[in-house]
Amino acid sequence: MKPSRRKFLQTSAVLSTLLPFTSLFAKSKTAEPTKPVVISTWDFGKPANAEAWKVLTNKGRALDAVEMGVHVPEADPLITTVGYGGAPDRDGHVTLDACIMDEFANCGSVAGLEHIVHPISVARKVMEKTPHVMLIGDGALQFALANGFKKQNLLTPASEKAWKEWLKTANYKPIVNIENHDTIGMLALDMNQNLSAACTTSGMAYKMRGRVGDSPIIGAGVFVDNEIGAATSTGVGEEVIRICGSHLVVELMRQGNSPQEACEKAVGRIVKNQPKKSKEMQVGFLAINKNGEHGAFALQKGFTFAVYSNSINNELFEAKSYY
Ligand code: ASP
Repeated sequence: MKPSRRKFLQTSAVLSTLLPFTSLFAKSKTAEPTKPVVISTWDFGKPANAEAWKVLTNKGRALDAVEMGVHVPEADPLITTVGYGGAPDRDGHVTLDACIMDEFANCGSVAGLEHIVHPISVARKVMEKTPHVMLIGDGALQFALANGFKKQNLLTPASEKAWKEWLKTANYKPIVNIENHDTIGMLALDMNQNLSAACTTSGMAYKMRGRVGDSPIIGAGVFVDNEIGAATSTGVGEEVIRICGSHLVVELMRQGNSPQEACEKAVGRIVKNQPKKSKEMQVGFLAINKNGEHGAFALQKGFTFAVYSNSINNELFEAKSYY
């Protein structure tokens, strides 16, 4: 036997006696996952998380938790950026965008849906009852009505008044963190360590008729890969679509980045694409990994998010920002 081969075999023998100890050591270093956990965007994430938490602590699925959670802002007429009471487009129509994704990469989405308070549940029905991922406009409405959803006027007197005020100048310019946008994006990890995500919005206030943002687009508004993690976005949807934002965040986690690092790098990509424009607009990302660790980062200050886990009692935080 050549000396080098003998040496290799001897070293392997020594290593194999050590192996049980090293693998034990490796195991003891692996952190126990935090579960369940739910995180969501903006201040209205808190009451939404509280609803999702009920499902999660009852050993429910993350999918049910995110759907139930985002129902809260969808039904709240005082929230002018999601569901009932949402600001209309510039022609006065409230058009809603939403999508949902589960641990099996099943997903469903609706865009430009009118007259239905819970677009997230229509998106879930698209996922479960059709061979498609996305339905839009009249087709989405027909599908919702055929599935038992009730038609109702979503334009509240307050939103109508604000829109009429806006019509006087009709100046469309998204302003950072002023209430002309703000989507709820929610991510959950359940007791079985499965992930799901949901996202629902009335989109940018006074948008062009037919405009669709990032929120109903799988890979932009939300993305889930049950081996890795999940992400969601809020802010100027056009910029999120340009970088496939939520998919990018999950892929960055796959490459070994923490949820925080992944959100920071995705925001950095927007800055690289739009060095000037990025100073004047808001985009924020939220992420969670398979271990229940979370991260958040935004272009501008003021992006808040709520976290509910066994160690964080549904607290609101402000994300760090690029500017
Ligand atoms: N991302 C949403 C959209 O572009 C709005 C927001 O989250 O602020 O429609």
